[in-house]
Amino acid sequence: MKNKRWGIGLIMFGERQAEEPSPPPEPLKEPKIDTTETTRALGVENYENPFYKDQPSSILSSLGSVLVVIGTALVIFAAARNTITWHAQKFWGASGDFWQAQWDKFLDVAGEDPTYLWVFGSTAITFGVYWLFGGIYTFLDVTNMPKVIRRYKIQPGTNEPVDRTKLMKVIWCVLLNQIAVGIPSSYLMYYSMKWRGFPGIRELPTFHWVLYELAIHILVEEAAFYYSHRFLHSKHIYKYIHKQHHEWTAPIAVTAIYCHPVEHIFSNLVPPFLGVFIMGSHVATAWLWFTLAILSTLNAHSGYHLPFFPSPEAHDFHHLKFNNCFGVLGVLDRIHGTDAAFRQTRAYLRHIMMLSFIPPRVAIPDTQLTKMKYWKMQHESKQQ
Ligand SMILES: [Zn+2]
Ligand SMILES: [Zn+2]
Repeated sequence: MKNKRWGIGLIMFGERQAEEPSPPPEPLKEPKIDTTETTRALGVENYENPFYKDQPSSILSSLGSVLVVIGTALVIFAAARNTITWHAQKFWGASGDFWQAQWDKFLDVAGEDPTYLWVFGSTAITFGVYWLFGGIYTFLDVTNMPKVIRRYKIQPGTNEPVDRTKLMKVIWCVLLNQIAVGIPSSYLMYYSMKWRGFPGIRELPTFHWVLYELAIHILVEEAAFYYSHRFLHSKHIYKYIHKQHHEWTAPIAVTAIYCHPVEHIFSNLVPPFLGVFIMGSHVATAWLWFTLAILSTLNAHSGYHLPFFPSPEAHDFHHLKFNNCFGVLGVLDRIHGTDAAFRQTRAYLRHIMMLSFIPPRVAIPDTQLTKMKYWKMQHESKQQ
C-alpha cells in the first residue's frame, strides 16, 4: 500500500535506477525548510515539513469553516442575483421568453412524450456531452498536443501520450456503462419521477427557481457521492468494485465513469439524480444539471489544471493516494478530516481556480522539501 501511495515518486526514481548503479545509502539529513519567495509570500513554510504536525481540527472549527463557505455562497448568490436578473432580462427577454420560445420550438419537433424525453432525451444529452468534451480531452492525451497544454499537467510525465490499449479498455467500459447500465437506469429514473410527480413538460421553470434547484442538486450530490464513495473504499468491498476505477493513479477525463457497473449505479447515477427526485425537477432543469455534473467530473479526472477551470487537484490527489478527498466540493472531507494529508501538500496550495495563464506548478512550485521527500521514500524503499 505504501509503495502504491507514492507510486509517482517511485516511478520517477525507478527509471533513473535502471540507468545508474545505485549509490551507497547515505544517512538521512534533516530537510531544510524551504524559504523561497513564493512560500514566504504565501506564509506556508511549514507545509511539506515532515516534522510539522497539523493540529487536529476540532468539530467547532470544521463547522466554522462550513458556515463560512455557506455564508459566503449565500452572500455571493444574493449579490449576483440582481446582476444575473438584469442580464437575464436584458438578453433573454423580460420573463425568460427567449428560452421558453426555444423550448417550444424543440418540443414541436421532438414531441411531448415524457417517457421519450426523460429516457432517450437524458441518455442522448449525457452521452453527447460526455463524448464531445471527453473527446476533446482525449485528443490532447493521445496527440500530446498542443505543447502549451503540457504545462498544466497535474502529474507531469503521466499519460503523455496516453497508452492506446489502456484507453481502448476505458472506452469500451464507459460505453458499456452508458448503454447497458445507463439506459435501464433512465427507465427507472423516469418511473420514479412519474411516481413522485413532476411539472408539466411544456412550461419551463423560472430562472431563479432553476438556480435554487441547482444549488440543492449540488449539495445533495455532495452528500450522496461522498458517503457512497467512502463506502466503496471500505476494506471488505474495495477490491471487488472500486479497485477498477483506481487502476488510474493519474486519471484522464474519460476515466470519469470507468468503473464497475455497481459503482456506476450507486456513485455516478444515483447521487446526481437524487436531488432531481427530491425537488421534482423539470426535465430541462435535469438536463442542465446532468450536463454540469458531467463537465465537472470530466474536469476532475482530466489530469489538467487549466486556467479559469475549477481546480481538479483534490480528485487527482484522491487517485494518487487513495485515502483522502472523497467528496466533490470538499466540504464533507473537511468535516470528517479526510483531507488532512491533502492539506499538507503543495497540491493543496494549488487547489484554487487559476485566474491567470501561469501554470499552477510554476506559480506554486515543488520545494526542495518535496524533492527531499521523494529522496527519503526512495531511501526507505531501498532498505526494505
Ligand atoms: Zn475518480
Ligand atoms: Zn475512490
